[in-house]
Amino acid sequence: MSGQDAQYGKLSGRKVLVTGGAGFIGSHIAEHLLAKGAVAVRVLDNFSTGHRHNLAHLEGNPRLEVVEGDIRDAGTCIRVCEGMDLLCHQAAIGSVPRSIEDPLTTNDVNVGGFVNICFAAKEAGIRRIVYASSSSVYGDEPTLPKVETRTGKLLSPYAASKQANEAYAAVFAEVYGLELVGLRYFNVFGPRQDPNGPYAAVVPRFIARMVAGEAVYIDGDGKQSRDFTYIANAVKANLLALTVPDIPKGHVAVNVAAGEETTINDLFNHIAFLMEYPQAAIHGSPRSGDIRHSLADLRLASRVLGYQPSVMVADGLPPTIAYFRGLNQT
Ligand code: NAD
Repeated sequence: MSGQDAQYGKLSGRKVLVTGGAGFIGSHIAEHLLAKGAVAVRVLDNFSTGHRHNLAHLEGNPRLEVVEGDIRDAGTCIRVCEGMDLLCHQAAIGSVPRSIEDPLTTNDVNVGGFVNICFAAKEAGIRRIVYASSSSVYGDEPTLPKVETRTGKLLSPYAASKQANEAYAAVFAEVYGLELVGLRYFNVFGPRQDPNGPYAAVVPRFIARMVAGEAVYIDGDGKQSRDFTYIANAVKANLLALTVPDIPKGHVAVNVAAGEETTINDLFNHIAFLMEYPQAAIHGSPRSGDIRHSLADLRLASRVLGYQPSVMVADGLPPTIAYFRGLNQT
């Protein structure tokens, strides 16, 4: 048994609450928690951007419970935390442009909901909380790779909400003695990510349009870069953060990424090659609130969680494409 498998073994017999568990990242986490022996996985989701079909393959598993509810409701948070050992908090409004159009809802869900669920966890005796932060907290800080301690001016209400999560997490560790781990995800992609709507992420949007034989649009010149992170890496970071024995000073926020920089043009070309898509991309105007380049330094995640990426972009794209092609055939 590897050291990592032994560590995941600590999930055996544990009861884990996953908020946002019907969403893209949360549904993969719920699935892997069950696979690693969690005795109960309770999903809380209001299905605003998540879908029941993301959990359809787990239907009938007696260790999975799905609760429809909203983290903005403090009473709901208290009820779902009851009897749980660990909290994995993924629920949020996860879009930069949506937060610019509607900062009030982003704040209510991402900040108010965060405080509700963390306070409810504390009341229920849950000590370890793992929560989704974001690379957006780096704002306009230009230094690459991004090191956790160097952040710049924030560029969106979404980024402010994630920074507020980290501030609250540090305070909850300080005043209540909880252990909290913030995971600063960098552009996670993979099967089950929603390709639809104006706020869809770039990987599923490109693939879905290519599957449909439609034109693909790139914001700006396409020379902006991102650290695209296959879903298996995000799941691994969550399982490690839920089971690692010690959290330095009770709270830490670490990068979760592949540590690999890809421009949007290169991403388009790579997917187009794999899908034999013949058309050129159409370039539009750049999006406001977007940073130019993004690449994670992974040394802190490695030191604190023992995290290393397992799947790089080139290996994550084929299963992602296969998933969206499969959807098109059903
Ligand atoms: P997602 O939209 O698929 O998942 C979010 C889930 O939260 C959805 O199932 C949604 O229905 C649920 N939700 C939203 N508001 C809720 C509420 N008020 N009450 C209960 N449930 C609610 O998005 P995702 O990509 O899986 O993101 C998961 C987390 O990771 C989010 O916190 C997001 O901000 C963060 N994140 C994601 C990325 C990425 O690249 N996908 C990058 C950085 C951070």
